[in-house]
Amino acid sequence: MLKLEKVTTGYDAKAILNDISFTLEKGDFLGVIGPNGSGKTTLLRVMSKILPPWKGKVTLEGRRLDEIKYMELAKRMAVVPQRMPEPFFSYSVRDFILLGRTPYLRRFQLLESEEDLRVVQEVMEETDTLGLEERNLEDLSGGERQRTIIAQALAQEPEILLLDEPTSHLDIGHQVEILDLVRKLNREKKVMVIMLLHDLNLASEYCDRLILLKEGSIFKTGTPEEVLTYEIIEEVYNALVIVHKNPLSSKPHILLVPKELRHEKLS
Ligand code: ADP
Repeated sequence: MLKLEKVTTGYDAKAILNDISFTLEKGDFLGVIGPNGSGKTTLLRVMSKILPPWKGKVTLEGRRLDEIKYMELAKRMAVVPQRMPEPFFSYSVRDFILLGRTPYLRRFQLLESEEDLRVVQEVMEETDTLGLEERNLEDLSGGERQRTIIAQALAQEPEILLLDEPTSHLDIGHQVEILDLVRKLNREKKVMVIMLLHDLNLASEYCDRLILLKEGSIFKTGTPEEVLTYEIIEEVYNALVIVHKNPLSSKPHILLVPKELRHEKLS
């Protein structure tokens, strides 16, 4: 469905991603991990038509992204940014979510349709934002804001959700809340999820499949069990770790080893 074939791209004359290929199907849940500067954000940009591929191609149902108009793409794919853009702070939650219906506006249509209102109501229920309806975005907590951003993306009724580190500014309670919501959308609505994540333990717990980037190339791809071994993590992140299992989920759980305890791990 969404396919990258030998994609190379970058900025100015400098290639950042090299020869990236993978395919995703409806209902897949992919996590993209890798150290700072490894190319995660660049990958998200080339998958969402923000950045064109220099070589290779990105296709959605066999059509190259540059053949798909932005408004059509926005009905199929939504990008959830890390933070809410500041110019929107004075908006109410409801108006901000309604903006997600923009791709569905017909020419010269100024007011939202019955269908727009029905969809907005539905996504507010799904994201538990109904109670926030009249609040201004600037008055929301981090978790409430993140739910509102996701609600706006869902108002586009996308088949594909691309999330840029949706939990990076949240405490652990809200991290779990947001990722549980994304998982529910993936399982119940079969929305394809592609999520950039910093936190390896969250990636392990929530993603069915991972792509680990190193210096712009895919270093390893597979299930969390296949990708998150201590050998691979130590090589890519240049840090000593111990990999255990979460006793409840059996997913890999990564523990850091401080420098002064290095000899204890190595002995
Ligand atoms: P990550 O998201 O994994 O931290 P990025 O894709 O943001 O990685 O960055 C990969 C590389 O591309 C870095 O070396 C970064 O400096 C460079 N880069 C990112 N954005 C731009 C840009 N707009 N112009 C030039 N270089 C950029």
